[in-house]
Amino acid sequence: MARTAIVIGAGLGGLSAAIALTRIGFKVEVYEKSQELKEVGAGIVLYPNAINVLRKLDVYDAVASAGSFGRHGRYMTSTGKTLVEMDLRDVGLDKEAIAIHRADLQHALVEKLGADKIHLGMPLSSFEDNGRVTARFPGGSFASADLLVGADGLHSVVRKQHLKDGEPQYANCFAWRGVCEGTFDGLPDDSGLLIFGAGLQFGAMRIGQGKVYWFGAVADKKGAQGRTKISDVLEKFGNWATPIPQLINATEQESLLTHDLYDRKPTFNWGKGVMTLLGDAAHPMVPFMGQGGCQALEDSIALGASLKEAPSIPSGLRRYENLRKARTASFVNQSRKSMNASMTSNPIIVAARDLVFSKIPSRVLMKNFHTLNSYDLPDLD
Ligand SMILES: Cc1cc2nc3c(=O)[nH]c(=O)nc-3n(C[C@H](O)[C@H](O)[C@H](O)COP(=O)(O)OP(=O)(O)OC[C@H]3O[C@@H](n4cnc5c(N)ncnc54)[C@H](O)[C@@H]3O)c2cc1C
Repeated sequence: MARTAIVIGAGLGGLSAAIALTRIGFKVEVYEKSQELKEVGAGIVLYPNAINVLRKLDVYDAVASAGSFGRHGRYMTSTGKTLVEMDLRDVGLDKEAIAIHRADLQHALVEKLGADKIHLGMPLSSFEDNGRVTARFPGGSFASADLLVGADGLHSVVRKQHLKDGEPQYANCFAWRGVCEGTFDGLPDDSGLLIFGAGLQFGAMRIGQGKVYWFGAVADKKGAQGRTKISDVLEKFGNWATPIPQLINATEQESLLTHDLYDRKPTFNWGKGVMTLLGDAAHPMVPFMGQGGCQALEDSIALGASLKEAPSIPSGLRRYENLRKARTASFVNQSRKSMNASMTSNPIIVAARDLVFSKIPSRVLMKNFHTLNSYDLPDLD
């Protein structure tokens, strides 16, 4: 009989884990609390390590055709001065970074998995592990399987029950995200912009199908606190260089998202018995390296590969956790450092940061892409 798995959460991590587990022969059911499979969250950038995962999950073509290759990157100051230009064609990685609308990425993953494997409107209440696992939902319904993966995100119920380690920590920073359409001076096709100010950062890139995704991050100890209007974004970024105000003004109020940003100190206890954690539930990080989703994707391959030949499910899950802990902890820590360096309001550090960027050869900055690209993922087949 096929081994069975329950995945809690149909986000990027849960869907990719479900595909990987199906590939190695598990019968998988995904339980998602939302009533509708409607991914909000504007765009996402998938770096070379995530692209390698998409290839292994056999969804690269679908994602590449819906999204946009990021080939050219420019770092700028808020006044429009270019600090550095990068062209991934120079290092042969021009098909290895994709920016895509999250709904399109979700669609590609759901198509691969099969929508019939996803049970909507099913918020996990609790689980029990008696050698097999039982997941319990409101109204008395339950499901049992050989293993449970908690891929239920930042405020994971699975993590709460397993670790009882409280809420994630606010990172003294919040972000707006939006999507708009059109052509904009200063933002050519296949280009991405990262613009630095004092305690502020703005990014913009094309995500395919005529759409542009942008984000604006603000260092603020109190959080966004209801600043959810386009006018709030313009208050911070409205006098920045072209095309920033134009992008914000072209965004519909309904599509504006506001997030306080959180992470957690890395833990090395992700699971016990036949349960484990994956993605943001295991290792939430601030988005200043754009690696939260990419690491969730990497987790899915490591999970499948570790279980494939393990003598028992608990030993396979511990193998997966051991494979992933150090790498994900290093991204949690590096993301914090990157946030602290790039979001400083101190004028001396701001000037030093801009000077350093303007002096660094672009090849040095692009080394990061090579490092991500060369991460050796295990095989599922
Ligand atoms: C502003 C911002 C920008 C970002 N940019 C990038 C980027 O460019 N690149 C990148 O790689 N990452 C980026 N990230 C990080 C990325 O969004 C996350 O790391 C990624 O979405 C994590 O995926 P996940 O599946 O673990 O969690 P989630 O995407 O949060 O999915 C969790 C799912 O579980 C469901 N759920 C929750 N509780 C329950 C329950 N009790 N029962 C059942 N279901 C439940 C939720 O509804 C949700 O569908 C960014 C994050 C932010 C905030």
